[in-house]
Amino acid sequence: MAAEVTTNGGEIRLGERVVSVREEADQVNLETDRGGMRARRLIACAGLFAGRVAKWCGIEDDFKIVPFRGEYYRLGSEKNKIVNHLIYPVPDPALPFLGVHLTRMIDGCVTVGPNAVLSLKREGYSRFAFSAADSLETLTYPGFWRVMRQNLRSGSDELLNSLFKTRYLAQCRKYCPELRASDLHDYPPGVRAQAVMRDGTMVHDFLIRKTRRTIHVCNAPSPAATSAMPIGREVARQAVALAA
Ligand SMILES: Cc1cc2nc3c(=O)[nH]c(=O)nc-3n(C[C@H](O)[C@H](O)[C@H](O)COP(=O)(O)OP(=O)(O)OC[C@H]3O[C@@H](n4cnc5c(N)ncnc54)[C@H](O)[C@@H]3O)c2cc1C
Repeated sequence: MAAEVTTNGGEIRLGERVVSVREEADQVNLETDRGGMRARRLIACAGLFAGRVAKWCGIEDDFKIVPFRGEYYRLGSEKNKIVNHLIYPVPDPALPFLGVHLTRMIDGCVTVGPNAVLSLKREGYSRFAFSAADSLETLTYPGFWRVMRQNLRSGSDELLNSLFKTRYLAQCRKYCPELRASDLHDYPPGVRAQAVMRDGTMVHDFLIRKTRRTIHVCNAPSPAATSAMPIGREVARQAVALAA
């Protein structure tokens, strides 16, 4: 894909952070930590930072990204053949991202997870990662507290399952009874970007917002990775329709 971008005249700039965006009548100015660039149009897919980038462009501040860490375990290699396929729980339509599943990975190992616990840092991948700014933004947001109130039971279950391996194991044993605590080995977590509306509604669909010259993918929850190509086609269609 990268080769396709570059052979068609595109440029991929990695490790460069956009620090501000300013939209003008005939262009969009981006300031980065290595300088800046101008564009006729901007498509922003900033994941955990989608809300902040959208705000720079004047998008209505009626949602916020709340980061939820998803923790996994990996089974020992002797258990690589324990399942032949992915095993998922029947989803709760109100909280479709909950429920640990067993996944055969591309390298043959089997992962168990993820759960969903509040992360106190947007790109905080360790259990104790903390950012005062990120925490303050979440904890002072009324939408977050409304979500917590509405999901007190499942939220506390997820937290306890994260703190106590035996509880996590009990979830996995519902579909894979022969698993033991000693089978669960550390595996890197991920952090979900979950858009939450001010009224406490968790956005389960894709949320795309626009200005005259910019498009923002503000919420792209699972299965957005799996669906990346059709989402990309839809965003491209919308980009073509923006101001020329
Ligand atoms: C634990 C977990 C399990 C998941 N499981 C699945 C699954 O099984 N199937 C599935 O389809 N999806 C799954 N997902 C969801 C999937 O990862 C997301 O839907 C997808 O990554 C969203 O893509 P995105 O491009 O919108 O955002 P991201 O993949 O988050 O990409 C955003 C990028 O923008 C960059 N960025 C942000 N701000 C700036 C800035 N200011 N300057 C420069 N760069 C910036 C970030 O560094 C990042 O690279 C899972 C997610 C998690 C966390």
